[in-house]
Amino acid sequence: FATRAPDYLVGLNAEQREAVETTEGPLLVLAGAGTGKTRVLTTRIAHILASRLARGSQILAVTFTNKAAREMKDRIGKLVGASVEGMPWLGTFHSIGARILRRHAELVDLRPDFTILDTDDQIRLIKQLLQAENIDEKRWPARQFSGMMDGWKNRGLLPKDISPADAGFFANGKGQKLYADYQARLKTLNAADFGDLLLEGIRLFKENPSVLAEYHDRFRYMLVDEYQDSNTAQYLWLRLLAQSRDGKTSANICVVGDDDQSIYGWRGAEVDNILRFEKDFPGAKIIKLERNYRSTSNILSAASHLIANNESRLGKTLQTDVGEEGEKLAVTSVWDSEEEARQIGEQIEQYQRQGDRLDDMAILVRASFQMREFEERFITLGLNYRVVGGPRFYERKEIRDALAYLRIVAQPNDDLALERIVNTPKRGLGDATLQVVHDTARAANIPLLAAIRELVETEELKARQRTTLRELVRQIDDWALRLQSIPHHELAEQILDESGYTTMWQNDKSADAPGRLENLKELIRSMEEFDNLGGFLEHIALVMDRDSGEAEDAVSIMTLHSAKGLEFDTVFLPGWEEGLFPHQRSLDETGLAGLEEERRLAYVGITRARKRCRISLAQNRRIHGLWQSAIPSRFLDELPAHVVEVTDTGSSYGGYTYGGRAATRFDQRDPFESVYETPGWQRAQRQQQTRKGPGPLTIEGELVARSSGPSAAYGIGERVFHLKFGYGTVTATEGNKLSIDFEKAGPKKVLDSFVKRG
Ligand code: ATP
Ligand code: MG
Repeated sequence: FATRAPDYLVGLNAEQREAVETTEGPLLVLAGAGTGKTRVLTTRIAHILASRLARGSQILAVTFTNKAAREMKDRIGKLVGASVEGMPWLGTFHSIGARILRRHAELVDLRPDFTILDTDDQIRLIKQLLQAENIDEKRWPARQFSGMMDGWKNRGLLPKDISPADAGFFANGKGQKLYADYQARLKTLNAADFGDLLLEGIRLFKENPSVLAEYHDRFRYMLVDEYQDSNTAQYLWLRLLAQSRDGKTSANICVVGDDDQSIYGWRGAEVDNILRFEKDFPGAKIIKLERNYRSTSNILSAASHLIANNESRLGKTLQTDVGEEGEKLAVTSVWDSEEEARQIGEQIEQYQRQGDRLDDMAILVRASFQMREFEERFITLGLNYRVVGGPRFYERKEIRDALAYLRIVAQPNDDLALERIVNTPKRGLGDATLQVVHDTARAANIPLLAAIRELVETEELKARQRTTLRELVRQIDDWALRLQSIPHHELAEQILDESGYTTMWQNDKSADAPGRLENLKELIRSMEEFDNLGGFLEHIALVMDRDSGEAEDAVSIMTLHSAKGLEFDTVFLPGWEEGLFPHQRSLDETGLAGLEEERRLAYVGITRARKRCRISLAQNRRIHGLWQSAIPSRFLDELPAHVVEVTDTGSSYGGYTYGGRAATRFDQRDPFESVYETPGWQRAQRQQQTRKGPGPLTIEGELVARSSGPSAAYGIGERVFHLKFGYGTVTATEGNKLSIDFEKAGPKKVLDSFVKRG
């Protein structure tokens, strides 16, 4: 007689269960949003553990964010109980890459306590190298080179693998040498950048077959979430781990993904990795999941119609299991982004009054600059919110300074940290003194701190500078010593006090100084969550996407990119305007690749919603200080009318109310016709923008919609909108003057430049 299935399998559908129970051999789960891919991965780990197929330490699971890793750990704990022997290796590519690299650091010319550099450090380092080579930084910007190097590292290329053609143009052929110098410099600094965490891992495995064999034997089961967004380096790293050297045996690797959610192409992700999987892992089984457990049918229908406009797709079908149509998607057109934030704020408060939790609501923006308006509005309203990813706490100046102090204490060779703090707060050390320190370090090929130790014993510097530096060295040594005896967060507080850093901000009279002091306090508070300083610094380096205020009920604000894999009852999608979403960069590109990636981003956005999806667009937007009249996003045209409700807000401008223009119009329409009727001129504008960037729409400092266009462009009988008088119909034209019969204000003559098509 049949035995009862274990609890964790109950409730899975047949395909999901198959994916969980097919533990042996390579497996690809290819399925749309919300079909339970992540759930399958989690359950699979639980199944492997519960069936004693492997111990925790023999399982490698790669998630897309650290947050996802934490959630997965929690869920596994719940599924199989706390008694599980050893936790799986669970984390992002980067965090697992770092963990492996630290265990074998000497083999890649590092020490186990190596620092992980962030972008800022990277740029400073490149600047130094450019200077050393006498390369004009204006002509060859460090950022550009940093981008090139990222590209190489994403593709798994070491300096020796770079062809002259790859690097040729940068700094007149010096690209390859710069890359090599940069890598060498990282070794001297005992540092690795993000790309290295995998690139150096690949080198480690290739050059040390015995090390690779150790991991190959260890990881009996490998699992990867969001596989569609893996890049070449990640793919190579995975393949090395999963396949034996002769390519004959492979680990039991399971990858899950959705080609329609590939949104990191700009960062080197290769959707083709999905297609390569079958080739590289012969006999791979493919399982498709087609039942969506997340969203209502209206939301799914909108998302499916939208994504059907993409040409490059593997193709999938999706059915909802939620079993209800649910609310229609709301599309709301507002005057500007301030009104957008006000409206969304009101809407959130209304849902809250109905009993919804803020945790179940999210605002997903295309570009991070959009966040500020919401943050300000929510502060005014006293509405709890958290910014996920985005303008990061740890990237604030005061936080970076404080971290530099902690880094130099933890790792005396960290030159970049020393540089940052040596004269912060001001210690009266001028450029000339620092130059001497640099020269000494370079001549002896030693770290800056070591150079300072030598210098203070000589007569090379003036007595005052010598005393200052001697005192700094003494302090750093003292802090390092105290680290052995007192908790690291207490030490951090002492460091900031004794260095004069806290005092510096206390004496600062600028408006943002109090906030900075609060941030420093928050930093010290956050350190308490870690066992030691090393663990904390590692966390900082890796975890830039950490939430703040996680404990409290709060609305999440984040970019669409960082929303991947998440779900909320209510999702707000603001800023659906041409040039913002799809983003201008994708429109300026030749070819459709960029635009299709934007559309996948829209698909990701809509499919985050369980019950409600509220899209909005501003009629006017200020971008980089310029007002632009906005054209509705083409993606709005791609939503089927029968699942969408369009409203123009009842907002007023110049004493006139306009509203309700579209609310009824769609009722009589073919349900499968596009929802958003974009006026002809806007379509033309769109096409024009696609080809050559923003057209003649930019008007400095003016709230006006259109600047030019002869009135001949307005036909008699056309409905238009005037800033002051609202909506009306053109009754006659004469040069640049229009006679308009306004709905509220009656007949008037106006200049055509103050009018746009309604
Ligand atoms: P995405 O592509 O957005 O990452 P996904 O395919 O990873 O989505 P999950 O996040 O795993 O989907 O699942 C979506 C939601 O559906 C979750 O809330 C999950 O708990 C739920 N779910 C998945 N499978 C089932 C099931 N068999 N029964 C009930 N709920 C399920
Ligand atoms: Mg998922």
